Amino acid sequence: MNLSNLIRPNILALKPYSCARDEFKGEASVYLDANENPMNEPYNRYPDPLQWALKEKIAKVKKVRPEQIMLGNGSDEPIDLVIRIFCEPKQDNIVAIDPTYGMYAVAADINNVEYRKVLLNPDYSLDADKLLAAVDSNTKVIFLCSPNNPTSNLMNRTEMLKVVTGFQGIVVIDEAYVDFSSEKSWLEDLNQYPNVIVFQTFSKAWGLASVRCGMAFASEEIISYFNKVKYPYNINKLTQDFVSEQLDQEARKNEWVRMLLEQRTALTEALSELPFVEKIYPTDANFLLVNVPDANAVYQYLVNKGIIVRNRNTVSLCLGCLRITVGTKEENEVLIGELKRM
Ligand SMILES: *Cc1c(COP(=O)(O)O)cnc(C)c1O
Repeated sequence: MNLSNLIRPNILALKPYSCARDEFKGEASVYLDANENPMNEPYNRYPDPLQWALKEKIAKVKKVRPEQIMLGNGSDEPIDLVIRIFCEPKQDNIVAIDPTYGMYAVAADINNVEYRKVLLNPDYSLDADKLLAAVDSNTKVIFLCSPNNPTSNLMNRTEMLKVVTGFQGIVVIDEAYVDFSSEKSWLEDLNQYPNVIVFQTFSKAWGLASVRCGMAFASEEIISYFNKVKYPYNINKLTQDFVSEQLDQEARKNEWVRMLLEQRTALTEALSELPFVEKIYPTDANFLLVNVPDANAVYQYLVNKGIIVRNRNTVSLCLGCLRITVGTKEENEVLIGELKRM
């Protein structure tokens, strides 16, 4: 793979904005270079545009080099940036599994880039050959998501590997739910596959959805293009400091995951005893995809009881499906109690 053939020519040629913090990086005692107000330290100062202190900590936890990390405003930012870096509007295209996370298609639409959906098998497994058959010479990016949203299952690793090795472009592997999964992360093999970009997030297992901090991991070369294109100060100092603090709480995160996996099992068992539940799909995430005869009716009944699940009835291959996030023991019991009375 030759990366420069994949990058949009205008991005390849881009001279990025050079901010005051790019032009002087050392330690000094008097900073008069950025038109900042000298009062109200430390928030008067522009933050580190490349968030090195936070990346050093993430690198230790994830066992990658800090230069292999890009941090964004949630995963939404790297999703958008991948498209803007690699896909020429009205010319290039993206291939993705269907159903999957809705943001990929929205980001493609915003950028006026064709988005080709390839249906998963009826059991939601991945058919690599079918996916690769949708690729043509203008396909720059393939989006995979594993465990997948909303189907909750892992994609088969051998099939994913076929996609990664059989495609000459970029393969994004979205691992938002990796902490809940029984399979190892693709981060472990990142150095072997220079065309892979792995997405993870602080929004799920780490309990930080409101903070908006997502991670992209890739080769240093790919990350250098993310750094060229992103807003210079895309992660503010409050977020950098706060996420850094939260990373010290990895044991608490692991305990939450353990509790949620226990609850996932309990919720699966309780739901499977309900007469109208036809199927609960195998899950490697913190949610269940549940098939019922009339998803709209169950959804509306629950809304009336003040319980909100996600109605996926109109999504490809998901007719009759509700997506239910695993909550606390108490929340799950309220849900089950109301469903029993239905
Ligand atoms: C929830 C989710 C994310 C996380 O998005 P953020 O913008 O990081 O909050 C990413 N990918 C998938 C598939 C998700 O379901």
